[in-house]
Amino acid sequence: MRIPYTDLEQWDKEYVWHPFTQMKTYRESKPLIIERGMGSYLYDTEGRRYLDGYASLWVNVHGHSEPELNEALIQQVEKVAHSTLLGSANVPSILLAKKLAEITPGSLSKVFYSDTGAAAVEIALKIAYQYWKNLDAEKYAGKNKFISLNEAYHGDTVGAVSVGGMDLFHRIFRPLLFDRLPSPSPYPYRMDDLGDEEAVKDYCLSKLESLLEIHSAEIAGVIVEPLVQGAAGILTHPAGFLKGVEQLCRSYDVLLICDEVAVGFGRTGTLFACEQEDVVPDLMSMGKGITGGYMPLAATITHDKIFNAFLGEREEHKTFYHGHTYTGNQLACSLALKNIELIEKRGLVAEVYEKAERLSAKLDALYELPIVGEVRQRGLMIGIEIVKDRTTKEVFGVQEDVISRIIQNARDKGLIIRELGPVITMMPVLSMSDEELSMMVDITYRSIQEVVQSLSVR
Ligand SMILES: *Cc1c(COP(=O)(O)O)cnc(C)c1O
Repeated sequence: MRIPYTDLEQWDKEYVWHPFTQMKTYRESKPLIIERGMGSYLYDTEGRRYLDGYASLWVNVHGHSEPELNEALIQQVEKVAHSTLLGSANVPSILLAKKLAEITPGSLSKVFYSDTGAAAVEIALKIAYQYWKNLDAEKYAGKNKFISLNEAYHGDTVGAVSVGGMDLFHRIFRPLLFDRLPSPSPYPYRMDDLGDEEAVKDYCLSKLESLLEIHSAEIAGVIVEPLVQGAAGILTHPAGFLKGVEQLCRSYDVLLICDEVAVGFGRTGTLFACEQEDVVPDLMSMGKGITGGYMPLAATITHDKIFNAFLGEREEHKTFYHGHTYTGNQLACSLALKNIELIEKRGLVAEVYEKAERLSAKLDALYELPIVGEVRQRGLMIGIEIVKDRTTKEVFGVQEDVISRIIQNARDKGLIIRELGPVITMMPVLSMSDEELSMMVDITYRSIQEVVQSLSVR
């Protein structure tokens, strides 16, 4: 029996608390209720079709209801859905760990599973912290802090929020958090008083170096989102910044944690973003695209030097006392394996790189719209910063309702995109065709244009 939209709408508003959502506004709106998906499209309960320009929150790789992924899930569920990794192993988690060791940079080879990106980050932080204590608890007694970038986003659990730098989300929780030292993130568009990209990069690296010079004895690690700070508004870092961070970590004997949750699995045109600068972190967190957008799974990978510091007799308590009920879940791990196999078989990463190149010319047209301040792109991660005034770079106030109208216009035209503050973001399904990518940009263009026209009428 088909449940009418009106019932679903009422129950959604009555019982579901949506993430990152002002529920008062939400309850005054007409919710989009998705019923099914196919390829690059989602369909609502009324049968309306939407191009998934948000990859269902940056996760979808091969499209919705992908036959080979569906089949992998069915095959696994007919064997077993879940058994624990505490005290026993399982087949898909072994095969996936081996695969991750093969495809990640350098000698990263020890995989710790979890189920959300935030947990993968939290695990990286806890491993980094305990690593120094296991090596020499006295000598490294002071290494209790982390450096992270301004506007960093690493997830929403308390540890991940502690290294976060997005004031809007994180301010209220300050009293609950552990110490972090903030370092400026390169944001050339809003740091142009410093000069060009190169100058901004040098400035940010010199600030990081000053922090390390003074504090390295207190620092367990530096955590960064490699190449692109996603949630901050698709801040694309200048070339060489990540490499510079790596070199500083090595000179000052602190660990480098790369949070590849958003950028991993092909999103930026290489399988992992840190490959582009030939960077090998000590710890890497992965999530989002790992199962192709099918199931919650995340992983933290590290190398032998760190892993070996946790080896000892039981009574030495070098053990990493951390785990989650669903750690290494078979359904999720078998989907991740199939996802990676399909990425390789279909040459998807090279394809993303080429599609992104072709798309970039198309994106330039957005500058015809007077409220477009900057268009930022790395691979298939795109951010369009909307400004009231191109010279002052002033942004619209929330009450002016400019950004939300653009998003709504796009939805009315059959495209799902979202905003991050004043930045309209497009994160298409990675397997989207050139035609679909063009359609995504065209609809976005027209959605902004309509708002521009209404502004000039007022
Ligand atoms: C989304 C994201 C996270 C958090 O992942 P969840 O699965 O939402 O917990 C962490 N780091 C980065 C860079 C992200 O983009």
